[in-house]
Amino acid sequence: MAAPASPDSATERFVIENCAVATVDSHDTVHPTGHLVIAGDTIEAVGAGPAPEDLAHVTRRIDGTGHLVTPGLVNTHHHFYQWITRGLATDHNLFDWLVALYPTWARIDAPMLAAATQGSLGMMVRGGVTTACDHHYVFPRGAGDLVAAELAAAAAIGARLTLARGSMDRGEKDGGLPPDFAVETTEGALLATEEAIDTHHDASFGSLVHLAAAPCSPFSVSTELLRQSAELARRKGVRMHTHGSETVEEETFCHELFGMGPTAYFETTGWLGDDVWMAHCVHMNDADIDAFARTGTGVAHCPSSNARLAAGIARVPDMLAAGVPVGLGVDGTASNESGELHTELRNALLINRLGAHKEAALTARKALRLGTRGGARVLGRAAELGSLEPGKLADLVLWKLDGLAHSSIADPVTALVFGAAAPVTLSLVGGRPVVEDGHLTRVDEDAVARAARDEARRLTRIAAGG
Ligand SMILES: [Zn+2]
Repeated sequence: MAAPASPDSATERFVIENCAVATVDSHDTVHPTGHLVIAGDTIEAVGAGPAPEDLAHVTRRIDGTGHLVTPGLVNTHHHFYQWITRGLATDHNLFDWLVALYPTWARIDAPMLAAATQGSLGMMVRGGVTTACDHHYVFPRGAGDLVAAELAAAAAIGARLTLARGSMDRGEKDGGLPPDFAVETTEGALLATEEAIDTHHDASFGSLVHLAAAPCSPFSVSTELLRQSAELARRKGVRMHTHGSETVEEETFCHELFGMGPTAYFETTGWLGDDVWMAHCVHMNDADIDAFARTGTGVAHCPSSNARLAAGIARVPDMLAAGVPVGLGVDGTASNESGELHTELRNALLINRLGAHKEAALTARKALRLGTRGGARVLGRAAELGSLEPGKLADLVLWKLDGLAHSSIADPVTALVFGAAAPVTLSLVGGRPVVEDGHLTRVDEDAVARAARDEARRLTRIAAGG
């Protein structure tokens, strides 16, 4: 990964000042009143007080009075396509919910995925996300190039994306959960994943698109697909992602089929390592957490989805104490209809306080850290993203905290995490605005909403056989 060029004297500068600054650096430094100087696509300076007045080539100077600036939020787990299957199977646990929805999901095509991508990503970006991961694992035969369709739709929004190219090859006839018509062959999934990586993965500093290899879960993929996906990812130098230890039922499934729990199964198939991150990790014992810490395996903590599907409470404080990298995830919007990450800061804090550590489980600053720096580490981008420090990419959010919802809370990070979802006045990706005054800058939100509604209706008709 090349280091960023230092800005030359002609580089255009963007200044934000008179606002609180939560840097999320290694000391969680907060400047009650501070400034940022952005040069090109990177952060040039961060500090207390106003910005220097004699800076050259300042093209925009923002008075951030009443605001808090933080690093852009990083979403580490999602399934964008589910934007058009929200509000279904609302009172089910994971396995029943999957069985209810797989037949509908298996009918998805390129226009549906494009509309769902803009809905999912647009909603998150409007709420302060600047980097998102989508784990897409439904590739029906004859559906066209879904990876290209998704990347084109996502590019229009302007955020950074890790597309985790998923796969399923264990249908019902092989003891898996998905219907047989919804799965790929092992070889077909591997070839398509390799082609997607070769075509689209960009490992450069400031990249907008990363690919990852991402077989769906132990109960929907073969052992061979897990093993060979790990070999493929390591041969190509990309990261690996899957679902792990989400429910008690998954644990039972693994013991019955493989004679061991999920974490031991992942270890035997090459799926623990500092190039791996896993969604959920709710049902982890001490030995499992030790194995993640020992190997540097990351976790995408998805508190709202875990509550929606009654999966349980992940042991996030224990993971952090052991040194496990942890980020936050929305998860697919069929199990988290709001589809926002900024509310997950609050939910992660509140839900973990219902666990063993009670009020000591997480603080507001730790929750913000999970949603920024933690997520950047989990996605393998700690050198570029996740904190406001000179040399890092200018991905940041200006939250409005002087309105009715927050003005009486003195500490800005407390207001952001404990308070209502804060309005986003400005959000930048690489120094370029993706949100201004609470709205996406590059797409028409009403048009995105209409397309999502129309594609959701078309999918419902097709799934009903109409
Ligand atoms: Zn998921």
